[in-house]
Amino acid sequence: MIKRHKFWERPNWLFCLLLPLFHFASVKLTFFCAVTPENSVVVWLPNAVLLAALLRFRGQRAPLLACLTFSSDVLANLVPFPWYEAVLLSVVNLLEIFFTYYLMRRSGASFRLQRVQDLVKFILAGPLFGAMLAGLLAAVVLQQFGGATTSYLTLARVWWFGDGLGLLIYTPLLLAFTQRQHQRVRLTRWDDMALVLTLLLATAILSAHGGEIDGVSVTPTLLLPAVAVIAFRFGTRLTTLFVALISLATAMMMSTGLKPFGEVAAHLEVVRAQEFILTLCIVGIGFAVLLSELQARERELESRVRDRTRELEQSNDRLAAISATDGLTGIANRRRFDETLATEWSRARRGKQALMLAMLDVDLFKQYNDHYGHQAGDDVLRAVACELTARIRRSGDFVARYGGEEFALIAQAGSEEQALATASNICRAIEAMKTPHLTSPVGVLTVSVGVAMVVPGEHDSVVAFLKAADAALYRAKQLGRNRVEVADIERRATQQSA
Ligand code: GH3
Ligand code: MG
Ligand code: MG
Repeated sequence: MIKRHKFWERPNWLFCLLLPLFHFASVKLTFFCAVTPENSVVVWLPNAVLLAALLRFRGQRAPLLACLTFSSDVLANLVPFPWYEAVLLSVVNLLEIFFTYYLMRRSGASFRLQRVQDLVKFILAGPLFGAMLAGLLAAVVLQQFGGATTSYLTLARVWWFGDGLGLLIYTPLLLAFTQRQHQRVRLTRWDDMALVLTLLLATAILSAHGGEIDGVSVTPTLLLPAVAVIAFRFGTRLTTLFVALISLATAMMMSTGLKPFGEVAAHLEVVRAQEFILTLCIVGIGFAVLLSELQARERELESRVRDRTRELEQSNDRLAAISATDGLTGIANRRRFDETLATEWSRARRGKQALMLAMLDVDLFKQYNDHYGHQAGDDVLRAVACELTARIRRSGDFVARYGGEEFALIAQAGSEEQALATASNICRAIEAMKTPHLTSPVGVLTVSVGVAMVVPGEHDSVVAFLKAADAALYRAKQLGRNRVEVADIERRATQQSA
């Protein structure tokens, strides 16, 4: 897969080796199946080889690719024409391809031919104008150097149509098979049936002589609806392949004298065949490209919706985080605290585990603000929050800013002693920060802590639990601050009075 990708990235030496061989093979294929006994070329495929290569590689190494196909073209033309005519006609072919490529570039068409507008630009640039230019020039060469007796316009028209149809059939086919396709082709039983019917129809057409079987008209035109179905169901690759096969088979029927369009004059028969191939290409390739474009748009829309949904989810997450975070300290806010306390309370009740709640209040903080200013006060609140967060070691523990200069800690505790130890550690740690507080009797910033601990029972209430911790904090303040008080919790204390 990787090798294939590299092969198609740039026209490397292997590609350059294969290109003239493929060009020559296309010449042989054209002579084999698309030249009538009267020497009329129904479709001329080889020009599409260089055009597809130029489009595929966006003009990279164009002179080299042109030289390679030019040599192959001259060689091929040497069979029916003298050398000078062969060279001139190959120059005409080269002009046709580069003129088409130039027009496509100027029109801003995407060379992938996967959108209807690009296909239309290609048809105008190549089969219409490019091939017409070649027809007009080739007719001059054939008359002036080849001594052709056919009228100038007829010569020009035959060349134009043959070249135009060759480009129309072969370029999309080569591009479809040399670039990645995004179409998902999921075949059903109906598709298999359609394919079998198409093959049966094709067999009937191939076995018809003079365009009829027992008086019933069976011409290649009958295949048009089948190709439309294939275009809708089988994707661009298979459609371009089918279109090419049907076109070449039709041309071949004429070259073998089967007269697929009935008993008409030879020159009219070629025109009929060319009209049919033109319609076949427009219907088949047009529908397939239209469908591929619609699918591409659908994919783009789906991916855009996916991106938007992801962005929305991310911004929702961000919003949820913001609404749960305290703006000043960056730790959980009161809302998150309430939610967490309710959750932990239920969990502890289910697991019959002890839950500890510590309420912390910065001592004499009003005085601190008055003395050091509110900015310094804010810094202190941040520092306290940071210290508290650093103290939470177990994943189950949780710290929040309760409001103002009050903080709360929810933790699991094995015993009342353990809860007291945790709270005392925090109290000491804040004092150990040694944040100067000149108007405090201690001289540094301190906190008072009220601790409550309970194994929540069926009749206990979280509100009473919170009140108990708050009451303990009040007692700590009353008893001189910078200390921990444990709530005297009896079962009754946390029971909600009716
Ligand atoms: P106590 O030791 O009794 O708790 O005394 P205190 O001064 O800490 O208590 P009080 O309730 O009288 O004052 C609390 C102060 O906290 C008042 C208010 O200006 C201050 N405060 C509350 N929130 C903030 C804040 O976000 N930033 C700052 N800088 N100060 C705040
Ligand atoms: Mg307070
Ligand atoms: Mg205070």
